[in-house]
This record gives sequence, structure tokens and C-alpha cells, in this order.
Amino acid sequence: MGVTEVVFLKSVDKHKFKEELIKKVKEAVKYFPELENETIYVGILDSKDDAEGRADSVNRIVKFRIDAYPTYVTIFHELMHVAIEIMYEKGERVPLTSEKFCSISAMARMPPELIDEEAIPYIGTPRVPKHLVPKICKEALEYRKHHRNYIEKCEEWLGCSIKQWGKGSVDITAWIKNEGA
Ligand SMILES: [Zn+2]
Repeated sequence: MGVTEVVFLKSVDKHKFKEELIKKVKEAVKYFPELENETIYVGILDSKDDAEGRADSVNRIVKFRIDAYPTYVTIFHELMHVAIEIMYEKGERVPLTSEKFCSISAMARMPPELIDEEAIPYIGTPRVPKHLVPKICKEALEYRKHHRNYIEKCEEWLGCSIKQWGKGSVDITAWIKNEGA
């Protein structure tokens, strides 16, 4: 197994939750085999940028908002952008600019205990129990191999789809039975 070198840029010193950010990024990279033998740079966003995070994937840089509490959900999402770029460079057919694909792929590899936000970026707030979220996202990536509507399906299984708003909990009984979850 290769090593991922993580370089924290000088700007990280100014981050309000510096220790937390460093700890969480170091933990998160363990879940990204694509980043092995790569150097990942971590920095902070321009103060005028109100995003939680951004990735400059080609240059292997992830940046976070200076005053935002760093969550694993955000960190996994940004690292996933870089991982997707690397998959693309290796010839995999992955959508480079889809935020939803990025989020689904990131959540699919998260241990449930690291999920520290209610909402999934660009997807919404799932109505299913947290421990099912990574399984459902993994299932959606499987489904993607043969279907184009994997995002809609994923949102439906998570109970995030717009169609389901206000309709109460989504029925995923069949899916759970299938998975033995
Ligand atoms: Zn993104």
C-alpha cells in the first residue's frame, strides 16, 4: 500500500479550527486509496469565498473556509473531487463536474460513525437512518454501472428526492431486505 503525503499549506495556520482540520484530513485520506502515492495540499479559501470547501483537483489542492468547523462530510467531499480527477486521468469513465456524483461517491466510502452532518452536500437530508446512508450510496454506484438515472434513484432511496418532500419516510424495506442490512 502506498502512502499519501498530506501537505498543510502555511495558510492553514490561520484556520479557526486548525487542529480539528488537520486531524480530520489525516484520518479521511485513509479512505482514499486513489490518493496513494500522491501529494495532497490543504489550504484555506479566499475570505470572500463563502463555500465550505473547494478542490483544485488537477493540482491536488483542497481548500476549506477559514472560520467553518471542518466536518468529515465536507472533507470527504473535497478529497473525492481529487480522487475522481485521478480516476479520470487513469481512464475511468467518471463525470468530472457532477457535484452529486462526487457526494454520492464520498458518502459511499464513509464509515457511518464519521458522518457528522445532517445533510449531504448537493443531495439533501436523508430520511433513512445514518448507518444506511453509505450502503445506499454504494448501491447507487452499483446501479450506475447499468443505469443513467442513478442520482434520482439514490435520492429516492435516501428519501431526499424533491418528489418525496412532505410525504413522510420513504419505503426502503425491499432494499434493506435485499441487502440484509
Ligand atoms: Zn464539490
